[in-house]
Amino acid sequence: MSRDARRPRAVAGGGGHVARKRFGQNFLVDQGVIGDIVRAIDPRPGQCLVEIGPGLGALTNPVVRLSERLTVIELDRDLAARLRARPELTVIESDVLKVDVDALADDLVGHDGGSGLRLIGNLPYNISSPILFHLLPWAHRVADQHFMLQKEVVDRMVAAPGGKDYSRLSVMMQWRYDMECVVDVPPDAFDPPPKVNSAVVRMVPHRHPAPLDPKVLEELVAVAFSQRRKILRHTLGAWLTERQVPVAFDAQRRAEEVPVSEYVALAQAASTTPT
Ligand code: SAM
Repeated sequence: MSRDARRPRAVAGGGGHVARKRFGQNFLVDQGVIGDIVRAIDPRPGQCLVEIGPGLGALTNPVVRLSERLTVIELDRDLAARLRARPELTVIESDVLKVDVDALADDLVGHDGGSGLRLIGNLPYNISSPILFHLLPWAHRVADQHFMLQKEVVDRMVAAPGGKDYSRLSVMMQWRYDMECVVDVPPDAFDPPPKVNSAVVRMVPHRHPAPLDPKVLEELVAVAFSQRRKILRHTLGAWLTERQVPVAFDAQRRAEEVPVSEYVALAQAASTTPT
């Protein structure tokens, strides 16, 4: 390998910034793709927009041009410092997993509910599932979310029962959000390019989600999908008996064959029985 190939390379148009792998930094550089994503978001003045991981501003710049104001959450100290110089941005320099979403919604939307936060971001792929689960309890404070994720993760989020993509993530996300894939993005739209295909998902929280304890649903689907090829009687059976869940349930199926509504009904029943 030549000396030049080993030297860290600055990101195209990034003012000398070298991408940090540990922060999942793959910067969008394809203007066509950026335009498609911004059109899908459709930012407007007066909306409470929050971007997770603004990076070098690929989405930040066109979004704030339309929305006039934007709050951004960035962990990389150097990138946050650059963004802080811009008066139209409110910069929260933090790990998004440590951000109190309820308090942020109080600040931006107010206590009366308003129309909720609009969350956007090309997420760091190494922590995309933890971010989705960090936001889940605050879905009632959110108007919508537009996130770029690995295509494979988006496929699992929106999967219908019966296929290999239907999983814990499908059940947990579909219980709480309406979702659709709105833009497909190839690796060469980024610098540096990731090894995988990407996609943008639109997530709109259900206004009246089935009331249940999300921890119970999470535990239930974790047990059900722990051995996805097995008949549920052998996996979930003991859990249901132990909790004396008073719901008729056909356990002669595999986890991937059970619709979200049935998992939700079980979790609702289990939420009301003593453990
Ligand atoms: N939005 C930019 C774009 O599309 O070009 C950058 C996207 S890059 C995939 C992910 C961004 O999230 C980076 O700017 C990275 O520094 C930031 N980031 C990584 N981990 C984070 C965390 N835990 N909290 C907040 N931001 C984080």
